[in-house]
Amino acid sequence: MREIDRKRILVTGGAGFLGSHLCEKLIAQGHDVLCVDNYFTGSKGNIAHLLGHPRFELLRHDVTFPLYVEVDEIYNLACPASPIHYQHDPVQTTKTSVHGAINMLGLAKRVQAKILQASTSEVYGDPQVHPQPESYWGHVNPIGLRSCYDEGKRCAETLFFDYRRQHRLRIKVARIFNTYGPRMHPNDGRVVSNFIVQALRGEPLTVYGQGQQTRSFCYVDDLVDGLMRLMASRDEFTGPVNLGNPGEFTILELAQRVLALTGSASRIEHLPLPADDPTQRRPVIDVAHAELGWQPTIPLDRGLPPTIEYFRQLLGQA
Ligand code: NAD
Ligand code: UDP
Repeated sequence: MREIDRKRILVTGGAGFLGSHLCEKLIAQGHDVLCVDNYFTGSKGNIAHLLGHPRFELLRHDVTFPLYVEVDEIYNLACPASPIHYQHDPVQTTKTSVHGAINMLGLAKRVQAKILQASTSEVYGDPQVHPQPESYWGHVNPIGLRSCYDEGKRCAETLFFDYRRQHRLRIKVARIFNTYGPRMHPNDGRVVSNFIVQALRGEPLTVYGQGQQTRSFCYVDDLVDGLMRLMASRDEFTGPVNLGNPGEFTILELAQRVLALTGSASRIEHLPLPADDPTQRRPVIDVAHAELGWQPTIPLDRGLPPTIEYFRQLLGQA
């Protein structure tokens, strides 16, 4: 990479699942990466292989406090993403989204950096429009158990667009749909990691409700590619843009695929459906396709095997 093209890039939440893959790809492209994380759900293990790299730097820091560094681009990923983790300390979750956004936007303003927000399909809540285009305003319970995450992320989007209107910041907002792959936390309660770990341990697969609720699952490599394309897009393009795989599956179908691919004899156990659990979710990705030339390339049946392999190794079964 030519010196002039090399950027100093801050990744908040860089020791988490998505952040660690993003750091890795940015380093591979030749950039300088500053990874900031408070290790609430992430771990040094996720980025251990990058620690000795001369263009990689790690800083323990909580984004709810201001940060003074000099960077060209910011990917703001810091926030627990699984319901178990974000509901563990809901006030801190809202603070991370809202104060974190204010602090990172303030930093972007001071150093005139371009800034990307990892928003979420949760801004659509339990959607009444299906599939979900970016123009849909959503159907979110403002006072429920998921609200700390949903409303925190919605407020962060508001802040991003107000900083754009008020301070002419270069912003990018990605609405990420359920993403899976190696380095998901084995105990974070998300459905893909739960089912794989349960199948590998021979424990029952815990399907909440009848398992007829749907999700669309994007493999991590596709998602990270989408984030990087978004950051590189023309300045006038702010998003919000959906990033996700439009392949839609019921949770029961996912359980059956995990059983088939792991060869597990585990049975399926039905547990109560959590409050406000969205009944359906599938992204319309026309905007990502038109603006970023992006669409997922890895279907569920190709993304599950490397994910299963990762958990096999983690559980010492390889
Ligand atoms: P993750 O929990 O693995 O990563 C989040 C990271 O942020 C962790 O390393 C955690 O320690 C760090 N963090 C949390 N609070 C922090 C704070 N106050 N200060 C500094 N660091 C903090 O989750 P992920 O799946 O990698 O998600 C990354 C981002 O993408 C999140 O913002 C999440 O909301 C968003 N997202 C993810 C998905 C998905 O399916 N994976 C879907 C939609 C949105
Ligand atoms: N789910 C499930 N069993 C589990 C974990 C999750 O049936 O062990 C369901 C959950 O109720 C939801 C879907 O799987 O309908 C996706 O859950 P996840 O927590 O992964 O993500 P989100 O609900 O935020 O999309």
